[in-house]
Amino acid sequence: MAVERTLSIIKPDAVAKNVIGQILARFEGAGLRVVAARMMQLSEAQAQAFYAVHKARPFFGDLVRFMISGPVMIQVLEGEGAIARNRELMGATDPKKADKGTIRADFADSIDANAVHGSDGEDTARNEISFFFSSLDVNGR
Ligand code: GDP
Repeated sequence: MAVERTLSIIKPDAVAKNVIGQILARFEGAGLRVVAARMMQLSEAQAQAFYAVHKARPFFGDLVRFMISGPVMIQVLEGEGAIARNRELMGATDPKKADKGTIRADFADSIDANAVHGSDGEDTARNEISFFFSSLDVNGR
């Protein structure tokens, strides 16, 4: 399997619960490495731009409001099949449907406050990484 990079965000609910370290440990335990990281409070315009693909969806306003409700921790994860591996670790979008032992099953409260974001494909990963990081910020091996 190819070594890939993917964008991961620990959302405001999980940051508020003080579980950044526990979530990063899940990634590391599954063989993914953090190769770039930054903590920030998104502006409304930044959150709208990041989630532009969902602009027409009825939940867009709630999603943006939630994502700017507190600081987020953003990282690039690198490893074999990192995109799919991260999605497996995250679990289903709705934590009620997420498999036991996944990040969302263990740390998320609702479909809005669902603890983590992860890129869902190669193109998305490339675009999402460059949304937050310059190539100079990414410390691959
Ligand atoms: P993800 O890739 O699993 O994060 O899911 P999507 O890319 O489909 O959606 C992005 C985010 O929008 C999700 O993580 C949820 O926080 C939110 N979202 C998605 N679908 C719904 C929905 O039906 N209702 C609400 N309220 N939020 C949703």
